[in-house]
Amino acid sequence: MNDNTKKKLVPAYQTMMARIEDAKKSANHNSLQQHIDAAIETAIKLNELSHVEAERIGYYLRRDLQDAAAFIVDTEKALVDWINFDIELIENRLLEMFSIMVDQTQQELNNLQERARQATQWNSGEITALGVLYCDNCNHALHFQKPDFIPVCPNCGATSFHR
Ligand SMILES: [Zn+2]
Repeated sequence: MNDNTKKKLVPAYQTMMARIEDAKKSANHNSLQQHIDAAIETAIKLNELSHVEAERIGYYLRRDLQDAAAFIVDTEKALVDWINFDIELIENRLLEMFSIMVDQTQQELNNLQERARQATQWNSGEITALGVLYCDNCNHALHFQKPDFIPVCPNCGATSFHR
């Protein structure tokens, strides 16, 4: 992936969050998936992203939200515990958008019977929004205060991570 693509995709993740928040205000009964699908369509229609890029960003966002919501439902802890570092370091606006979406995801999960948190994997080269990822190989911690690309583990070079 070249640098221009990288520069485009990280802001695209945050733009998608902002559009979902906007859409929620006008069509609050829609599911999170419907909001994400609409944001994917908008990015494609405005030629901001290719179809493949938009789908990938939507997938990255949904993965973070679902993992955060499932963590809260399963452990009865709070979003700050999932983020797992000082939330003062996170821009207020970003934290607010993320937590509104996690709330909705959590409500939707509460309506499902099968809701146990799945073992989810994050890989180098993908994007994640907030919180701490741990290297699958050496448990080195990577801290994300805003959406960014997941690097190769700086400690051991491994490429897969977990929360
Ligand atoms: Zn490592």
